[in-house]
Amino acid sequence: MSVLPVPAVGLDDRFARALPEMALPWQAEEAPEPTLLALNEPLAAELGLDPAALRSPEGLRLLVGTSVPEGATPVAQAYSGHQFGGFTPRLGDGRALLLGELTGVDGELRDLHLKGSGRTPFARGGDGLAAVGPMLREYVLGEAMHALGIPTTRSLAVVATGRAVRRETLLPGAVLARVASSHLRVGSFQYARGTGDDALLRRLADVAITRHHPAAADAENPYLALFEAVVAVQASLVAQWMLVGFIHGVMNTDNMTISGETIDYGPCAFMEAFDPDTVYSSIDEGGRYRYGNQPLAAEWNLARLAEAMLPLFADDAERSIELAQAALGTFRPRYEAAWSEGMRAKLGLPDDADDAAVAGLVDDLLPLLQADHVDHTSFYRRLADAARGDAEPARLLFLDLAGFDAWLSRWRALGPDGGAMDRVNPVYIPRNHLVEEALDAATGGDLAPVEALLEVLAAPFDERPGLERYAAPAPQDFAGTFRTFCGT
Ligand code: AMP
Ligand code: MG
Repeated sequence: MSVLPVPAVGLDDRFARALPEMALPWQAEEAPEPTLLALNEPLAAELGLDPAALRSPEGLRLLVGTSVPEGATPVAQAYSGHQFGGFTPRLGDGRALLLGELTGVDGELRDLHLKGSGRTPFARGGDGLAAVGPMLREYVLGEAMHALGIPTTRSLAVVATGRAVRRETLLPGAVLARVASSHLRVGSFQYARGTGDDALLRRLADVAITRHHPAAADAENPYLALFEAVVAVQASLVAQWMLVGFIHGVMNTDNMTISGETIDYGPCAFMEAFDPDTVYSSIDEGGRYRYGNQPLAAEWNLARLAEAMLPLFADDAERSIELAQAALGTFRPRYEAAWSEGMRAKLGLPDDADDAAVAGLVDDLLPLLQADHVDHTSFYRRLADAARGDAEPARLLFLDLAGFDAWLSRWRALGPDGGAMDRVNPVYIPRNHLVEEALDAATGGDLAPVEALLEVLAAPFDERPGLERYAAPAPQDFAGTFRTFCGT
């Protein structure tokens, strides 16, 4: 690793200094021929970084980690993880590095992190690398989520390395530069707990409080308040996923943040036809992370977080468990409240509409959507047309017209507002067939479809003429067979 002139990036090493037991200083692998594939200029601006400097040869070396600013200490982070229920005590960044923290123009601290930067001591059998397609996929999906207003890590850049990566075939390699409010995960706490060093666990919790949940510091029991805050942000996050039909695909405890940001866009996808059993991930054979199971999966992960944090809640073990259980018990009501409020907004119903009537409408709508394989996204946009007086576009989606008409008249009686619906129900989501098409083109060297897709997804609620194909569900032959792959 060289210390060359790199763009003026003030990279701190707070994580490495505060938690050295969980930070392994490491270097990125050389990239033979770094070529910029995507640069997130709005995000660069938020971080106070100069896009022109990032595009320069020195900038590209920073973005692949082969040249870092003076004083920065890139580290591979240690964490544990329950993967599909099975516990691995030592997972960690096998192909990633935390370059350091930088302060955005808003004064907030953010992690600058690389994925695909070469093997680390946590790589186990992996090659430490990443292919262009999956890294651009993370870029596109993260930006789509951000534009939808859902908390997420974001991608600053994807740089092709010029090195081939062996998967089923040889693919062009790439490094993703990712920005997150931090990379603290449930698995980070599991790792600290596993060391048996309660002082380390406490230090980790202190970092999490300072960085993400500062109000917890003033609580009577700060560590319990931290846990409750994580429960709250995760309940809210998963409700937002459910409302837009996002399926994370690999909700392992190492992929669940303490900040409440969505992280790790691997085998994720947006659901098309509404069905709680929808799974797209090729590795999720048991359907553990199917659409309808995501709230339960989140609650399960939070129970693992509580277990890891137990020594911090109280000196007495039984008392600690009682406190943890009570705090975990807030997940369901929080999730239900966020989901119900979100559904009320999706249906355009006024705040003063009777709660029971709204709940009844939601309960009766979902089986209708499921029975007729109705597209989750276009349905709510068409329903907004129905609020404005034209029910035909929505009715065309149903075979059970009697059932849907009966539902419509109950819904209309509550006075839905079509304009309000259009502000919360996206027209454009990263539909799987469009993402695959764009990534295939990019892998072959044509970036235009990815760029076009990113532009569409940047304004998901504004319907624009000429973009009809971006709003349409996948053709039947694609929808039935689509699978996504992890670890690629
Ligand atoms: P993920 O499913 O992407 O969250 O990754 C789970 C674990 O596998 C993490 O510890 C990753 O760092 C590691 N990993 C995934 N792919 C690779 C790879 N190609 N080489 C080394 N480690 C990897
Ligand atoms: Mg991960």
